[in-house]
Amino acid sequence: MTDLHRSISTATPDFWCNPRRTAAANGPRPEQFGGKPIGILAIHEADARFQRFAPLLATLFPELVPSKGQIESDLLPIASMQEALGLPLEKGRLWLKADHGLPVAGSIKARGGFHEVLEVAERLALQYKLIDSDAGYLALSQSKARQVFAKYQIAVGSTGNLGMSIGVMAAALGFRAVVHMSHEAKDWKKERLRGRGVEVVEHPGDYEQAVSRGRQLAKADPLCHFVDDERSTSLFLGYSACAFHLQRQLIAQQVTVDDLHPLLVYIPCGVGGAPSGIAWGLHHVFGNHVHCYFAEPVQSPCFLIQMLANEGQHPSVYDYGLSNHTEADGLAVPRASLLAGETMQSIVSGSFTVEDATLFKHLDMLRSTQGLRIEPSAAAGFSGPQWLKDDVLACTGATHLVWTTGGSLVPDTEYRKFLDWSPSG
Ligand SMILES: *Cc1c(COP(=O)(O)O)cnc(C)c1O
Repeated sequence: MTDLHRSISTATPDFWCNPRRTAAANGPRPEQFGGKPIGILAIHEADARFQRFAPLLATLFPELVPSKGQIESDLLPIASMQEALGLPLEKGRLWLKADHGLPVAGSIKARGGFHEVLEVAERLALQYKLIDSDAGYLALSQSKARQVFAKYQIAVGSTGNLGMSIGVMAAALGFRAVVHMSHEAKDWKKERLRGRGVEVVEHPGDYEQAVSRGRQLAKADPLCHFVDDERSTSLFLGYSACAFHLQRQLIAQQVTVDDLHPLLVYIPCGVGGAPSGIAWGLHHVFGNHVHCYFAEPVQSPCFLIQMLANEGQHPSVYDYGLSNHTEADGLAVPRASLLAGETMQSIVSGSFTVEDATLFKHLDMLRSTQGLRIEPSAAAGFSGPQWLKDDVLACTGATHLVWTTGGSLVPDTEYRKFLDWSPSG
């Protein structure tokens, strides 16, 4: 047994550096997954779809009026947090990509989830000729379109945040929205969804079982579109599209990304769809100058074990004797997405694991230093820079970018429980 295998099976935090990355990162990338395009054109297409829908979204959601329907988050320098973490300035500067504050959904799932719902809506709109030459996409909020959408169901299996984003967007467009949840999903998320007109179906067992049951039920219904978190290229591309906007944000903040100024990105990872989609987009925009690291709970390192597996294998964290129990409910996934595994082979720079106690420590630290509210899953990236601090990449010119993936919609009572958390429960 290698040292890394030992730390995985004993739930000890560790870091893995991808040996396939150095040689291959500039090489050819897969242009397709499961017969669906995922290359640069498809990423641009996803971005263009968000733009086409923006005026409609601004009419459906009052909170999108200021941004004219753009679903985007801030890029913030976090010097106080950097100091609290003890990351010296000669190792680079610490930034935060504030997806915890993404409008409407309050999590990173707004990117992938909204994109897939919009893609379904657009396909039906073209098929039924619902987009008219005067009103354009705004016609999709009128009764003719809503009557068409009402015949269709959009379903998803989710630990919470994906269900929230799919459910809310699907219901807002007039679809029947169904979210299949594992029993352990948080009650406030279930209630919030029900309050928005989404049907919540609870399943015994873990996330994987909820997804597979939901997938089965949806298959039986030709008017149902099932959003498949484990293999959807539409979700993936929705995440990837963030790269263009981030590039503009970095330029606006005068942050250089080149040979002497590497961009190191730390992203929490559950099934792997969101972080791999983002890494995929960033890699197309920044090439070898961007280095993405995925963060997982010590009990749920499904992406890491997928990267260590031989070709054709699809291991689960239970195979390592792990429990998949973590307070980071967005990351409690036993088996990684194969789309993530395949696309990241030569692109992800590494990954690391985090104990729950560290998540809560960093969640509280971010509150006290920067006044930002995140959920436990979203704190996973903050231990990343520490693993890199002796690497040549962590130089004066480096930009460390921690992606905070959710939390702005967490109710006060729940957030207070995070602050009071202790290992004994
Ligand atoms: C879903 C989620 C992630 C990870 O996304 P995956 O696609 O499951 O890897 C990270 N953080 C939060 C808050 C999430 O909800």
